[in-house]
Amino acid sequence: MKVFLNGSLVDKNQAKISVFDHGFLYGDGVFEGIRAYGSLVFKLKEHIDRLYESAQSISMKIPISKKDMAKAIVKTLKINKLKDGYIRVIVSRGEGDLGLDPRKCKGNETIVVITDKISLYPKELYDKGMDIITVPTVRNIPEALNPQIKSLNYLNNILAKIEAVNSGYQEALMLDHLGYVAECTGDNIFIVKNGEIYTPPQCMGILRCITRDAVLDISKKLKISAHEHVLTRHELFISQECFLTGTAAEIVPVIKVDGRIVGDGNPGKLTKIIMKEFKKLTKVDGVKYTL
Ligand SMILES: *Cc1c(COP(=O)(O)O)cnc(C)c1O
Repeated sequence: MKVFLNGSLVDKNQAKISVFDHGFLYGDGVFEGIRAYGSLVFKLKEHIDRLYESAQSISMKIPISKKDMAKAIVKTLKINKLKDGYIRVIVSRGEGDLGLDPRKCKGNETIVVITDKISLYPKELYDKGMDIITVPTVRNIPEALNPQIKSLNYLNNILAKIEAVNSGYQEALMLDHLGYVAECTGDNIFIVKNGEIYTPPQCMGILRCITRDAVLDISKKLKISAHEHVLTRHELFISQECFLTGTAAEIVPVIKVDGRIVGDGNPGKLTKIIMKEFKKLTKVDGVKYTL
């Protein structure tokens, strides 16, 4: 496997970065998770735009243009002969000293692109649905570390994941500091009630998510009313369907929330329709490349 590292394609075992890299020392950097389906990089422009926005927000200059970033991604997919795969783009502040000051790292930004195959959850979860649990760790508050920044500092989500796993669950539901539903550890949440779709609004401190937007577009196309609305756990408990979305997870049905059975305990009808439409979208919407 080859990895793109600061302009070169190097063998995975040769892809080394400094222990003084502030991405390693402090989680100082930003990233993207992208997918390719059948030689199409899904929503590449949206992912690259978000990467540069995250960097802008933390005052970090990505030393290559968006166009060259897109080329680097495609080049890495091609050299690894991947038609279908997951792409991780990481831009860290780079090598500095042991102090926090990012000015010491100026001009050293590290760019890494890794492509590989992953599926986040076992296949049967997609057929049978997932059981999730609310965890005590609340999602970062926007005034402290805005979740709109897709940052390398992922401990907030990792703590939530640990709490879910310690309780015997695969996935954690995170609330915001006010107690409203925020998202899962790397996925957004949707519910269905009386044939309409609801998901928490973006302004409540969740990332502008690309799979979430794709699901909202699909609902519009299918003429299903979709609302961005503040949700409490109660709304989840009385929902008829529930599902999670994210680039790595894709779309996962949820059948139980905190021990309450959602709908009839099986993946919902609309959920399955949206999963099918999403699959169709991934076959047509993307930047094409040839191996
Ligand atoms: C990346 C990410 C998601 C999913 O966003 P997509 O754009 O759909 O991949 C959801 N939540 C968090 C915390 C994330 O980092």
